[in-house]
Amino acid sequence: MTACVLHHSAPVEKNPLQIQEDLAVPEPGPDSVLIRVSACGVCRTDLHVVEGELPIKKMPVIPGHQIVGVVEKAGSAVFGVAPGDRVGVAWLHHTCGVCKYCKSGKENLCERADFTGYTVNGGYATHAVAPAAFVYHIPPGFKDCQAAPLLCAGIIGYRALKLASLHAGASLGIYGFGAAAHVALQVARFWGIDVYACTRDERHRKLALELGAVWAGGATEPPPNRLDGAIIFAPAGEIVPAALRALDKGGTLVLGGIHMSHIPPLDYDWLYHERVVRSVANNTREDGREFLDLAVRIPVETHTESFPLREANRALNALKHDAIRGAGVLICN
Ligand SMILES: [Zn+2]
Ligand SMILES: [Zn+2]
Repeated sequence: MTACVLHHSAPVEKNPLQIQEDLAVPEPGPDSVLIRVSACGVCRTDLHVVEGELPIKKMPVIPGHQIVGVVEKAGSAVFGVAPGDRVGVAWLHHTCGVCKYCKSGKENLCERADFTGYTVNGGYATHAVAPAAFVYHIPPGFKDCQAAPLLCAGIIGYRALKLASLHAGASLGIYGFGAAAHVALQVARFWGIDVYACTRDERHRKLALELGAVWAGGATEPPPNRLDGAIIFAPAGEIVPAALRALDKGGTLVLGGIHMSHIPPLDYDWLYHERVVRSVANNTREDGREFLDLAVRIPVETHTESFPLREANRALNALKHDAIRGAGVLICN
């Protein structure tokens, strides 16, 4: 099989992913499936893995955790998924099932979880394996490359939105307008929530308005109204004070990324009146299933920019420099 493999983390400008064509196709274990990958989304977390902003868990590693493909082979103990099924693999690759988090409906916080494209190989490849219990059937109606960004950008955006606890008629600020934001905006609109997009990039502000944001402004520009909730998707800690100052009493600020630069000191006045700041970590399988059902009903439209698998380095560079409108996707077969 062919894959883009990371041997040493480095800034993406140095094109650290190596194309390897002579790799053995992995054999699925009894509980796993082998997937012929057709598309794999490019996520900011991949950038954090490749550039070494997250601690190294596996090296070399094949990144990529928004995999869409067709099952080629199923292990002997697999049920519910069969060869020929179109499936997706997300960031949450496997959980232990027995820790206190797994047992209380918080498998996203599992102490022994595996993560696709980070602690195990992912989908920047022509083939990938995943435990059958952790793959999703991709609903018809989405092409492979449109479905790929739903698997992390979509699911994490959805979880972030749920954690912001908003009702119809509420106002939501979205800070940073990449792949996750452009999906979360569509879900928020479907729920009757007014979206205010705060982002440094003019093209992203334009896309936000096209998708139905009521207002779009700069990354730290105060929106015209107080926000009932806000989500920061940009990995920039310096946005936290601006978002808190825009938040109404009792509002929740959700930090949607796995990594964030240093957060400046906060003034207690910005937090007082029961404002909440919280992060989002990973997703549960329930989040994934709920979101995919919802994505069909809305229906979510993903704006994607495709890159051949061999150009994964170029895709990561484009992502880092805000040059992708919507979501980047690698075409793997
Ligand atoms: Zn667990
Ligand atoms: Zn991701």
